[in-house]
Amino acid sequence: MRVLLVGSGGREHALAQTLARSPHLSTLFIAPGNPGTEALGVNVAIGAQDVSALVSFALEQQIDLVVPGPEAPLVAGLADACASVGLPCAGPTQAAAQLEGSKEFTKEICDAAGIPTARWQSFDRAENAIAYVRERGAPIVVKADGLAAGKGVVVAASVEEAEAAITDMMTGGSLGDAGARVVIEDCLVGEEVSLFAFCAGETAYLIGAAQDHKRVGDGDTGPNTGGMGAVSPPKGFGPLEQEAALDLVVRPMLCEMVRRGTPFRGVIFAGLMLTDNGPSLIEYNVRFGDPEAEALLPRLQSDLLPALSALADDKLDGVSVSFSDQASVCVVMAARGYPASPEKGAVIHGVDNAAALEGVQVYQAGTTRNLAGELVVSGGRVLAVTALADTVEQARTRAYAGVKAISWDGAHWRNDIGARAL
Ligand code: AMP
Repeated sequence: MRVLLVGSGGREHALAQTLARSPHLSTLFIAPGNPGTEALGVNVAIGAQDVSALVSFALEQQIDLVVPGPEAPLVAGLADACASVGLPCAGPTQAAAQLEGSKEFTKEICDAAGIPTARWQSFDRAENAIAYVRERGAPIVVKADGLAAGKGVVVAASVEEAEAAITDMMTGGSLGDAGARVVIEDCLVGEEVSLFAFCAGETAYLIGAAQDHKRVGDGDTGPNTGGMGAVSPPKGFGPLEQEAALDLVVRPMLCEMVRRGTPFRGVIFAGLMLTDNGPSLIEYNVRFGDPEAEALLPRLQSDLLPALSALADDKLDGVSVSFSDQASVCVVMAARGYPASPEKGAVIHGVDNAAALEGVQVYQAGTTRNLAGELVVSGGRVLAVTALADTVEQARTRAYAGVKAISWDGAHWRNDIGARAL
């Protein structure tokens, strides 16, 4: 098969590595890819959001399957554009991608399908949102309705903080159109986990689960980031709990999407809070997580390509998905100044040494090559260092040995990834 993978992060490097292992793969293109994917296929200089250029390239190159990594091209209609010219795409239509593109849409689906989620209300006028927050009290959660690159959620400890967030989003326009509507919801308490499944129509196959670490600092301190590391599987959330959660929060959603005439096809990522009353849905994403993919995919034993190809054809029945019992720990190494203003340009040393360690894989994200051909920092999250081992403890030791073999000026990372899973 000739495959076009879309995206340029650590997730796409992990996807490229997993696809490259498939005996069914003949050629892999990655648009735009990164220096890490260079060794696994052909990087193509087309932006991940340039839907028309991606489709033209795929037609020209007689691509058999388009695999979207990030959400933006899906929300922009990549799968619809592929369908209109008969190209199989392993991702949802624009209508189904609303599960990630609109918080209000997701809440309506949850209510219609009886999926547990925090009590909520949506608003398009700031004064009504503020009145609701005063009535409900704090803690309370304010969410921009639209896509806001991870910046659209404020978990407010006080009514004043919630009011300020509402004013910023709705009156101040801090998030542009994404914040013109807000969803206000009750604050959930518990451990947060991410559940992944291959889906087509009403069928869902469990991929697995991981736990992300969102805050920049040890002990969950400091600002939120795209994710500083992940562990798979999360403590106390093994295959049995994952299957039960699939029945509770994914399969009813799939049935509701079919009922509405907008079936979901692709990888679903359900963000869950494990509350005292059971799992409650925080959000859906319509693709693999980053860094969860870098923790999950190295554990995959079955062939990823037939699974993605089957879901693109809406025929998942009979696909086999199997994972190793090993634990996986992924530590993200970030640039100085991340997440506020990452510093670019530092030369990175030691990637090959780290990758040579037992059980360690190094995925590239915010990297590029300078004129001298050296690997340099080009983004906030620079590398994802993953290790597999029989226990979480051993995987942690291996992952941090990998991290210590790598250096650049300003590199920082969390030292407690996986500590809670021990
Ligand atoms: P979301 O973009 O909806 O995943 O929200 C981003 C983060 O905000 C989540 O990963 C949670 O840590 C937190 N969050 C979102 N909704 C809630 C909620 N209802 N209660 C507590 N925390 C929440």
